[in-house]
Order: sequence, then structure tokens, then C-alpha cells
Amino acid sequence: MGKDRAKATLFVLMLMMTSLSGCFGDELSDLIPERKGIPGGLALACLRADAYTSMVVEIDYEPGYRPMSSSTDMLLDRLESVCDKPDGITFDFSEVSFGHEGDWTADDVREKAWDNKDSSPLEGSTLTWQIIFPSGYYEDDSVLGVAVDASSIALFGDSIDTANGPFNRPSVEDVENSVTVHEVGHLLGLVNLVYQSPVDHEDETHKGHSNNEDSVMYWAVESADLGNIIFGTLPNEFDDDDLNDLSGMADGSIKVTDQLWS
Ligand SMILES: [Zn+2]
Repeated sequence: MGKDRAKATLFVLMLMMTSLSGCFGDELSDLIPERKGIPGGLALACLRADAYTSMVVEIDYEPGYRPMSSSTDMLLDRLESVCDKPDGITFDFSEVSFGHEGDWTADDVREKAWDNKDSSPLEGSTLTWQIIFPSGYYEDDSVLGVAVDASSIALFGDSIDTANGPFNRPSVEDVENSVTVHEVGHLLGLVNLVYQSPVDHEDETHKGHSNNEDSVMYWAVESADLGNIIFGTLPNEFDDDDLNDLSGMADGSIKVTDQLWS
């Protein structure tokens, strides 16, 4: 992003988000500087290829918390199926020490994520999203993952490790797979974070989530109780309503707000 544009956008918007809870963290109800944006603020940068033709997913994990390859393989597949990136989507893994003690808040996640970003989210023609895998727990230890701004996610491996279901159905691997796709779904703007779906599929009591238990954006996929709510097979794909929202955003038939570039 050019300096002028960064400077201009800095003054344009202070973004406010209300009535989101759960895996977004309470702090999102506070004012967030526009530079970091809100989850979904870089959705079009992914869905379209006008300005950003390649994408990097930066994975920063503490020793012992590297995500399973099945999670990143699945994420790559899901991203490639919805995002227009003619120059490709790649992963960049780094082992890091976040040096954080105690439980994590959304502010902690945002701060440590930005401290460790290898590049800014928008650089040249490359979009970069980041997933951190820290040790420790979120302040609400029933939360498995959080999307804290337009480019930053955390997944809490210690919580995921104990979120499997009875008889290991779903397994820890299933949970990690699904939560990874779920949180990235929030960066894509799902559900109704930066647009209004023409279809009524947002859960009434869990804003920003799907009411379809066959969608990876189903509200329970963020919760440590998911193994008790969804038996057997966890959803790990966007459903038709999610996919139609994304394609409508991409082709302009659905109005998209709060984007960090235009
Ligand atoms: Zn969620």
C-alpha cells in the first residue's frame, strides 16, 4: 500500500463493531484503528484479483504448536476454491516465541500478531493473512479460535487438544481442521460481517455465524463444547449460502463495506 493511501485511509474511518461475541472477543466492541481493520476488512482483497494477485498465509506457532498439515492443506483447498489468486497462494511457517504469560485477550492476540508479522497485510500485489498458534488459553477458555482484525487470527492449541468428542468423534485433528477454516471464514467476512446476505442464514443468537449445522461457519464450531454439540463428523466446508455470499461479494452483486482498500 502506498504511503499516501495509508495516510488517507487512516483519517477516513474509525470502525465500530457491536453485538459480536464468542470467537471475536469482547474488545471488538471498542474502537479499532482502521489500519488493522475488522474481520472481513480484507475479504475483497482475497476474493478478487484486481489489486492483489498472490496471497501468503503466514503461520506463526510456538514450539510444539505447529498446526497439523491436514489443517493447512484443507485451508489451502478452501481458499483456492473461493479466492482469485492467479499468482498462487502459499504458506510461510515460522516457529516463534510470543513471550506471553497468562490467558490471552483479543488485544493480546492483536499485539503479538502484529509484533510478529513478516510483512504488512498489503504489500505490492501480495495479500498476507496471519494465523498464530500460541501456547495457553483464551480468557474465555471455551473459545478455540479468534479473528481479531482484518488479517489476524489465533488458534488455541491447548483448548483444541481437549475439544474432541466422545470416542474421539470428532477427533482433535477434525477440530483443528474445522476451526482453522472457520476462523479464516471470518476473515472472508462470513457471516454478514461486512455485507448483508440476501439469504437469512445468520444465527440469531450467535451473530456473525451460520445457523446451518452443516456449514463450517456454524456457531458451535468456535466452541470447546462442539464435540458435545456435533457428534461424529464436523462440518469443514462452506455451505451453499456461504459460497453464494462470497461469490456475490466478489462479483459486486452484494455490497461490501469496511474494506481496507478499494
Ligand atoms: Zn466464529
